[in-house]
Amino acid sequence: MISERPLRIAIVGSGPAGMYSAGHLLEGPGGTFINGGLNQIVRRPVEVDVLERLPTPWGLIRSGVAPDHPDKKRMAAIYDSIARRQGFRFIGNVQVGRDVSPADLSQWYDGVIYAVGADDERRLGITGEDLRGSDSARAFVSWYNGHPDFSDLQFDLRCERAVLVGNGNVAMDVARILFSPISTLHNTDIASYALDALGKSQLKEIVILGRRGPEHAAFNYPELMELGELADTAISVEGTDLSLTPENADYETQLKVAALAKLCKEKSQGSRRIVFRFNAAPTAIVGEGQVAQIKVVDRRDQSEQALNAGLVLAAIGYRGLAIDGLPFDDVRGVIPSRDSRIVDNGIAIAGAYVTGWIKRGPKGIIGSNKKCARDAVAAVMADADSNLLPMEGTLSAAQVLEAINARVSVTLGFSGWQKIDRQEQSDGRAQGRPRLKMTTTGAMLGLVTAG
Ligand SMILES: Cc1cc2nc3c(=O)[nH]c(=O)nc-3n(C[C@H](O)[C@H](O)[C@H](O)COP(=O)(O)OP(=O)(O)OC[C@H]3O[C@@H](n4cnc5c(N)ncnc54)[C@H](O)[C@@H]3O)c2cc1C
Repeated sequence: MISERPLRIAIVGSGPAGMYSAGHLLEGPGGTFINGGLNQIVRRPVEVDVLERLPTPWGLIRSGVAPDHPDKKRMAAIYDSIARRQGFRFIGNVQVGRDVSPADLSQWYDGVIYAVGADDERRLGITGEDLRGSDSARAFVSWYNGHPDFSDLQFDLRCERAVLVGNGNVAMDVARILFSPISTLHNTDIASYALDALGKSQLKEIVILGRRGPEHAAFNYPELMELGELADTAISVEGTDLSLTPENADYETQLKVAALAKLCKEKSQGSRRIVFRFNAAPTAIVGEGQVAQIKVVDRRDQSEQALNAGLVLAAIGYRGLAIDGLPFDDVRGVIPSRDSRIVDNGIAIAGAYVTGWIKRGPKGIIGSNKKCARDAVAAVMADADSNLLPMEGTLSAAQVLEAINARVSVTLGFSGWQKIDRQEQSDGRAQGRPRLKMTTTGAMLGLVTAG
């Protein structure tokens, strides 16, 4: 009887949201921690396939989180232990929407949870944005983290000034990496080519533009304070008077603004400088082929100034990417949903769920995805209990792999990733580094298929 076999669920994407979803689905007898107590949300056997477009798992833990934040990268150990649970299978190098369609997955599985993150970015929409030397912070972050889609990029850091547009935590990460000593970065898993480029850097100044005043600054306190730890680096503020921050601002805002004021006072000297420029909006990037200047308007009096710069990085937000065959809210850049169920024109698609950044938008820390994943799994289980999952025609684990392998020339399982992982760590050890990342899909698949 159909109801006696395990539920077969596909999860698309192996970042935090996908892996927490797998963890909840394979929760085991201990149950799931909800509202201060353990509750069983999964009451039947489940098999989970995690489909990932890269040969490597863990999403932004590997390709977003800054290399000098190894404590955050260590979250991967939790996902690794989930991947070893009974019923879990990783299928890497399969892109849903290209290699297999959402319709295929709906047919092959009882339910599908989409956890594909935010694989795109918001653009500035000003002239000169496509000049050499102008890119998104997302591209820069993915590049220094060795993401195979970005490892071909070149960032020439032999210029004196870089301008970051946007002052959120991603801008803080980028500024910190740009000014970190090479000896510090050598002890991280930053991509080797990025280490070389940063070693040749001649940057003396990083300007961080914020459209509004400091009370609206998007960075968090800890990320700001880390900039204060950079040696020989002065920090200053332009375009505002920090002492005028409204007294009715919330506690976190007051804390951040006070911390910034303190940093400016304590870090007034240094051969390099980070300038927080508020109430400043870019209007154009100028140069002959290569960025030479960025024009910035002061939003208080509309005066315009041109800043010489060799590098401009737009850190104004990640954005979800539409998947062929699924509805997409183009305004918010998310897959539309209600209670984690994907909806098309307001109507829930049976057996299709969404979680993580592609559901909520690109906001929130790693841990935010745990509850989000739990909500999605609770919706799957509620629908299973109400017989709302389309369970006819579901394929066995072996049949699914056969169907995928008929379309993708090389896929890899978790043992394939473990092989890459071991190689990266051993190559790292040989150079006194924690890991030497493989940065091309070809090299990774070559290693896995080498026998
Ligand atoms: C630069 C940066 C630094 C950050 N630093 C921190 C930090 O220090 N601490 C912290 O708590 N949070 C941090 N975050 C936030 C954290 O990374 C996110 O909350 C989290 O990664 C979102 O999880 P997700 O699973 O929704 O997306 P992702 O982590 O992006 O995972 C999505 C996965 O889906 C895969 N995928 C995409 N499309 C497809 C497809 N079509 N088919 C198959 N697979 C697909 C992707 O390859 C990826 O592996 C940072 C974020 C960024 C951008």
